[in-house]
Amino acid sequence: MSPAVTTTEVAIVGAGPAGLMLAHLLHRVGIGSVAIDLRSRREIEETHRAGILERDSVRLLAESGVSDRVLREGDEHEGIELAFGGATHRIDFRDAVGASVQLYPQTDVFIDLADARARDGGDVRFGVAEVSVGGLTTEPVVRFTDADGTDHEVRARVLVGADGSRSLCRRQFPEAQRHQFTRAYPFAWFGILCEAPPSARELIYNHSAHGFALISQRTPTLQRMYFQCDPEEDASEWSDDRIWSELQARVGANGVELKEGPITSRSVLPFRSFVQEPMRYGRLVLAGDAAHTVPPTGAKGLNLALADVKVLAGSLERLLRGGDEAALDDYARRALERVWKAQHFSYWMTTMLHLLPDASDFDVRRQIGELTSLVGSRAGTTYLAEGYTGWPEHD
Ligand SMILES: Cc1cc2nc3c(=O)[nH]c(=O)nc-3n(C[C@H](O)[C@H](O)[C@H](O)COP(=O)(O)OP(=O)(O)OC[C@H]3O[C@@H](n4cnc5c(N)ncnc54)[C@H](O)[C@@H]3O)c2cc1C
Repeated sequence: MSPAVTTTEVAIVGAGPAGLMLAHLLHRVGIGSVAIDLRSRREIEETHRAGILERDSVRLLAESGVSDRVLREGDEHEGIELAFGGATHRIDFRDAVGASVQLYPQTDVFIDLADARARDGGDVRFGVAEVSVGGLTTEPVVRFTDADGTDHEVRARVLVGADGSRSLCRRQFPEAQRHQFTRAYPFAWFGILCEAPPSARELIYNHSAHGFALISQRTPTLQRMYFQCDPEEDASEWSDDRIWSELQARVGANGVELKEGPITSRSVLPFRSFVQEPMRYGRLVLAGDAAHTVPPTGAKGLNLALADVKVLAGSLERLLRGGDEAALDDYARRALERVWKAQHFSYWMTTMLHLLPDASDFDVRRQIGELTSLVGSRAGTTYLAEGYTGWPEHD
């Protein structure tokens, strides 16, 4: 049977934060789109990932009319604690750069975006299968099967690959015309969610001779914490007691004590720095994790995805309404400038705070030296605060 055909202006593969935010921004300027995702809406809603929104990500969600829940229910953080050398040291973002970040889980960002699409009559197809793409240098087409087994074809003027770190779209770039930049790390994060009150008001980035730990929050009764582990670690082999003693040992070295509670989820999150250049091939453009991934230490992944599509929406409007064929290359250039700043920031935070498996006493002391100079320097704290709260987008 021939497939059901839909014609639109922009086809979007991937309905995560990048895909849905792009669809929303395009809708606001009258550009139609169809977004598809392999996963069900429920599955995406229940996948815990990022939690920190930069100042401009908060503005984008609120001012573009996605939702003001981020302002009402998000928790403003005006700084972070760096814990090392036996004590904690606060980096005051407000004092350093007059900005803050918002603790607002990615699950809620996704719910707000999916609700906004439903409210505005957006065409989003969750739970599809057998996705393939074609016509990338002429007339893009996306083929897939829906949850009822019906075959579909979406024809569009531009195809956006917002399909995350294992992107199918990224692989469509001819090998000779793409460059992949990668950095692997010999460690991962062991992440937990636990039912307990917060142990601290703000995030604690904890350096210790036992390895890194991050103490983060979600709600008054649910907390998110991580500790550095071997990438091959099997999370299911860790009992609650063993996890708590590992976390307490790491933060206890710096005088912090955690409030414990039942652990409701545990997983190992691999680390990788990755960029694919260029981000455009013919009528296909990449956005978000499909084009780049960062280690989570700097809290940049979700923010980069949102920053990409903010620029991309403007470029698509220039192309589709103004006929400006240079617009997609402009998007790729502007997005990559920010991506590489974020790559550096994430790499810097990661290497400053984590221990390599063969780290010597010298390495530990040298890191403490770096952290001591950072917190003791106005320039150092300002640099960290600028990167963490997000660099303003320049036209
Ligand atoms: C497991 C994991 C844990 C993370 N944890 C943290 C964290 O703790 N802190 C932090 O700061 N950042 C974290 N991140 C990073 C952050 O969540 C991402 O940067 C962010 O989700 C990027 O948004 P995106 O829309 O580009 O990609 P995604 O959110 O990955 O969305 C891509 C979507 O595309 C869909 N898709 C994939 N392939 C196809 C296909 N062929 N056809 C159709 N749909 C497809 C996927 O189902 C997915 O819904 C994590 C990322 C991952 C992968």
